[in-house]
Amino acid sequence: MGNRSLLISYAHPDDESFGLGAAVPKWIDDGVDVYLICATDGDAGSVPAHMQGQYPSIAALRQSELDCARKVLKFKDVYQLDYKDSGMANSRTSRDPNSLWHSWTHDSDRVIEAVADAMRQARPQVVVTFNRYGGYGHPDHIAIQRATTRAFHRLNENSNASDARPQKLYYTSYPKSTVWMRILNARLRGQDPRRMGRNHDVDVYKILENIEPVHARIPIAKYHDIWERASRCHASQGGGRFGRRGRLMRRLLYSYQGFTRVYPVPGHDRVDEDDLFAGVEL
Ligand SMILES: [Zn+2]
Repeated sequence: MGNRSLLISYAHPDDESFGLGAAVPKWIDDGVDVYLICATDGDAGSVPAHMQGQYPSIAALRQSELDCARKVLKFKDVYQLDYKDSGMANSRTSRDPNSLWHSWTHDSDRVIEAVADAMRQARPQVVVTFNRYGGYGHPDHIAIQRATTRAFHRLNENSNASDARPQKLYYTSYPKSTVWMRILNARLRGQDPRRMGRNHDVDVYKILENIEPVHARIPIAKYHDIWERASRCHASQGGGRFGRRGRLMRRLLYSYQGFTRVYPVPGHDRVDEDDLFAGVEL
């Protein structure tokens, strides 16, 4: 029997910990080899001045944070595609020719092949990326979602037996109730749900509109401590400062991680899996 292998294809150093920091240890416990694509260097992230300290650049600081998370989450390997972080839509950084969004819009095939190359090395049966809205509309998330989906189909349809052939593709998802809780929470704190996040560019109503159905749910309640530890690695992005109330909210809202099955196409909108490897041929 071959190894079970899963590839997460994400955009920034921190996406893996903030988004899937409780799901990865579940897969590791199940004996799965977990690989990560981190497509950008994260250098458009805002960083508190005192944290940059001895690092020559924001990218160097964020690299060290990713190295920390990599150890906590026990990735088998991390593929860094070395694109520049695009920042949010229409920002100066999104027009940088080396940014992921600019590269995607001007030479999509190169980005698809960079993702396909990581798939050829990791040989995952299961691939996970963002949903079509990139979780919350970040251009880099949307670019990596599109490139990953295209690379998946390119290799899945390839009949060359020696090439990697990923079998299942998922987007991360969660129940609408958790997003309604965020909206309620924002209102209670006097915040505008349409202008959330550190840079006030996250519209929680748009997140809600773009949620896709959950087909797979995996239990993650046991792994919240590791989730917090991995998130704390990304201190420059505000990671891991959950506090007592935050911890309680997480326990209430996130005992499962949801996924939308994109391929094979489910043909219905209900949960029918508790394991992303269900039906996979090894
Ligand atoms: Zn991100």
